[in-house]
Amino acid sequence: MSAGDTAFTYRHNTLFAEDVALHDIARQHGTPCYVYSKTALTSAYRGFAAAFAPHAHLICYAVKANPNLAILNLFAKLGSGFDIVSGGEMARVIAAGGDPGKIVFSGVGKTETEIRDALNAGILCFNVESPSELERINRIAGELNKVAPVSLRVNPDVDAKTHPYIATGLKENKFGVAYGDALALYRRARDLKNLKIDGIDCHIGSQLTEVAPFSAAVERVLALVHALNSDGIELAHIDLGGGLGIQYEPEEAPCSIEEYAAAILKGVAGRKETLMFEPGRYLVGDAGVLLTRVEYLKRGEDRNFAIVDAAMNDLMRPALYQAWHDIVPVDSRPNALEAWEIVGPVCESGDFLGRGRKLALKEGDLLAIRSAGAYGMSMSSNYNTRARAAEVMVDGANAHLIRKRETLSALYANEIVPK
Ligand SMILES: *Cc1c(COP(=O)(O)O)cnc(C)c1O
Repeated sequence: MSAGDTAFTYRHNTLFAEDVALHDIARQHGTPCYVYSKTALTSAYRGFAAAFAPHAHLICYAVKANPNLAILNLFAKLGSGFDIVSGGEMARVIAAGGDPGKIVFSGVGKTETEIRDALNAGILCFNVESPSELERINRIAGELNKVAPVSLRVNPDVDAKTHPYIATGLKENKFGVAYGDALALYRRARDLKNLKIDGIDCHIGSQLTEVAPFSAAVERVLALVHALNSDGIELAHIDLGGGLGIQYEPEEAPCSIEEYAAAILKGVAGRKETLMFEPGRYLVGDAGVLLTRVEYLKRGEDRNFAIVDAAMNDLMRPALYQAWHDIVPVDSRPNALEAWEIVGPVCESGDFLGRGRKLALKEGDLLAIRSAGAYGMSMSSNYNTRARAAEVMVDGANAHLIRKRETLSALYANEIVPK
């Protein structure tokens, strides 16, 4: 059972987030609205940490999954580090009270400014993704009279067996350094004066549901670590990235955190390096729902549409990856079920949140789109000049607004009509 299953439950046939009725949140903050459970976030983090307790480790939450300051602040208080992919994410982590000394910086396109700012902030490590980036970091560190801690992100060329848009560890992907080139690049890094080799890392994809690709990646990475050691290169850490999946569909159970940890701990048994992880989805996905209201029911010749006030700009995953999210009524009634296309108001046929969902609906009903805590708000946009949703974090009987709904005037505040 996931943390989300215990945080979002029905009481007297109405859905609650912890001890707060979702109705009350909708009344107070409007819809669409993301609602997160602090308890679910905390227990996902603690569960991950407990699974790896036998080995020295650092969890670096992947900020892009959900970058709200309140969520970053919660994880920082729990002891988390952070995996960032832009200077913007670094600014957020620091604004939220995160420790720059626990930040790892991933991404294929780090700019000069981003590298300089990260060196000045004193981050834990750069996850380097190309030979050119390695040279650039060395040069900028030299200009600042600093030594940059680096890790090479190697591409282990294993098939993550996930959606092609979120597989990252295959030869054809843009990420990381080719496996066969890694040793030579480590030797180059050793020769560069302003670099300190700190670790190695890989991240093979997202929403993985099987253990086998993780085990294969660990094996490939460890083979490289052995080769490096033989060459006199010692590492302080081994970073195995993120990617552990959550359960979106009832019939598609991902491997558990315990199975995942067992496979990895077996692989690294006896090694002294600190393990690092970059989980995103696993820590936040099940801890959030997107609350939306049915605006219209529109019966068609071929199918019936429930037009809701959330859309692809609020939650892009269904349109982008054909992702499936469970959609449940906030008020559960014993009425007869019908199949509905759950769609938003955006002018795109791809603007659907769920298809053929069996629900008993009437106009004005509230729906909760489950497992929406990861890559929901963080991928949202203003397409169709829609203000982005409000975000609320529930903690027991308290519902805290953690992001105000955007105002329409803010959407065009930076636009200029030439005289
Ligand atoms: C996106 C990303 C993650 C997090 O992936 P999840 O599937 O959300 O765990 C970790 N590391 C890197 C480098 C990423 O790009």
